[in-house]
Amino acid sequence: MLGFEMTRFKSLSIECQCGLLVAVYLKGGSGRLRKMYFRRIKEDPEYLFHNEPPLAIGTDIDCPQCHKRIGTVARVSGHAAVKINQGVIRT
Ligand SMILES: [Zn+2]
Repeated sequence: MLGFEMTRFKSLSIECQCGLLVAVYLKGGSGRLRKMYFRRIKEDPEYLFHNEPPLAIGTDIDCPQCHKRIGTVARVSGHAAVKINQGVIRT
């Protein structure tokens, strides 16, 4: 049975263009994924998005396999988030 959270958010697998699964993210709303809030990253198999202690704004996060930049830490609407490098990430 799906809870309230699951009805509002869609679980999205986030992959690098090299095929590595970098995160499973709970996306709200429709449209293209542009950012990921840390608190909605459900799975972090490569341990890239752990945010304790908080990653500094402006920190680049690179793919551990192909070393391309997956995204950059930013503040979005007052919350820490990763701005997605859309050329590299696919969902
Ligand atoms: Zn990669």
